[in-house]
Amino acid sequence: MLNIVIFGPPGSGKGTQSKMIAEKYNLLHLSTGDVLRNEIENNTEFGIIVKSYINSGELVPDDLILKHLYYKATEYEDTKGIIFDGFPRTTNQAEILDKMLEKRSDPIKLVIRIEVDEDEIIRRMIGRGEDSNRGDDKENIIHKRIKVYKEQTYPLIDYYKEQGKLVCVDGMYAADKVFKAICRILETCSDNIGEEEIS
Ligand code: AMP
Repeated sequence: MLNIVIFGPPGSGKGTQSKMIAEKYNLLHLSTGDVLRNEIENNTEFGIIVKSYINSGELVPDDLILKHLYYKATEYEDTKGIIFDGFPRTTNQAEILDKMLEKRSDPIKLVIRIEVDEDEIIRRMIGRGEDSNRGDDKENIIHKRIKVYKEQTYPLIDYYKEQGKLVCVDGMYAADKVFKAICRILETCSDNIGEEEIS
């Protein structure tokens, strides 16, 4: 199995890149943000609980995320690999994910960090907020999300660097160019990756 984490600040293009990677290499795209937004849209009990965290730019507490993700991940036991998008976001989440994958002998192979300047992130998210109806793409919340990213998620860079799994991509370019760079990395780092086919 090829398990990958896509890592980067909000607005770095993680979602767009994850979708393209999943399609090209036939992997499963697991976006915790999408899962949570879907729960909110369907007005589930879980959705009602997490909505206030998301709309205020906070992370959803680890215990809620982990319980929910565990059920999601067990639904996908037959996949060729998973792209984790927006997860893990704390060191605690990363440690628990490692333990969960260790049990299945399918550890994270690669962590792709998309690097984008803060000004560009803000510009992109404000632009996205004009089209989307995401409750967290408002300017004051965007600043909060960046602060939360720096405080709680950024430490994962060292966590994965120490494991020798971190690779960086310049995310300042157009999505297609960033995608090409990611494909080059995947095809260099992973011996058994091929378009539409992973053994
Ligand atoms: P995203 O779509 O990945 O930008 O996530 C949107 C929001 O969902 C985040 O700002 C958090 O409030 C929440 N969220 C998504 N993934 C996680 C996670 N792994 N842990 C905690 N909260 C999360």
